[in-house]
Amino acid sequence: MDRKDLRIMVIGAHPDDPEVNMAGTIAKFAESGARVRMVSVSCGDKGHRVLPPKELAERRYGETQASARTLGAERYVVLDGHDCELEATMEMKLKVTKIIREFAPHIIFTHRTCDYHADHRAVGQILMDITYFLGVPYWCPEAPVPDVMPAVFFMRDKFTVPREIRPDVVVDVTDVQDQAADALCCHASQFFEWLPPELPGAAEENPGVDGSVEDKRAFVKKYWFVRKEMDARRFGLSVRYPEVFELSEYGKQLSSNEIKAMFPECAIVRERESSGMR
Ligand SMILES: [Zn+2]
Repeated sequence: MDRKDLRIMVIGAHPDDPEVNMAGTIAKFAESGARVRMVSVSCGDKGHRVLPPKELAERRYGETQASARTLGAERYVVLDGHDCELEATMEMKLKVTKIIREFAPHIIFTHRTCDYHADHRAVGQILMDITYFLGVPYWCPEAPVPDVMPAVFFMRDKFTVPREIRPDVVVDVTDVQDQAADALCCHASQFFEWLPPELPGAAEENPGVDGSVEDKRAFVKKYWFVRKEMDARRFGLSVRYPEVFELSEYGKQLSSNEIKAMFPECAIVRERESSGMR
């Protein structure tokens, strides 16, 4: 397949979830020629202690567009769901179906359904609910069924109940760490305002929105790339900054060779045999 025909969609609950979990992989897909669209199902309108929801949503929309440019994604779609209020409703399932069918991605990345944040779980649930329906013509008939049925991969999380994520694919993003950090820095309302008080030590070291590019990069690497270092340790990977993904049993099943052909060249793929649908 020609790389420019490869379509990748990353669907998170909040504007910054795709970046937090896989900014480096997004950059690598885009750099390899693939078309990448990022999606936030909510407008992220509650992630602040001072800014009221409407103002915050507008600011965060601007942050998504800057982040998409930084990573080389062709579009960052922000749906109208509200932060802390996402549910796998019929209305939301239809909305997400439409944006998927319109783009017809080969691969979708999303959250697992075990996660501390109800919005993350809801988005995972929406994907689990509609993945089969994507091929059902009379489900959401206003958006026709595309030729391509997507494989669904889960982005990393740290949770172990009912079980921890299985690293079917590992992407080494060490060489794009600055670009990945810069994408996080685009979300200034989060990484330099909302989140630092939640992490021990971070509030004291926060360079703030007006800090230098270098200081902001170093700060987000120290406090958020530690998750990648943690994954390297728990999965025994000799990679400084890995981004790990698990292939969902729902959606198209890919053989390890098919995964290798689609993912960026540096991806390490666990051997698996099955291919075809379900
Ligand atoms: Zn989130």
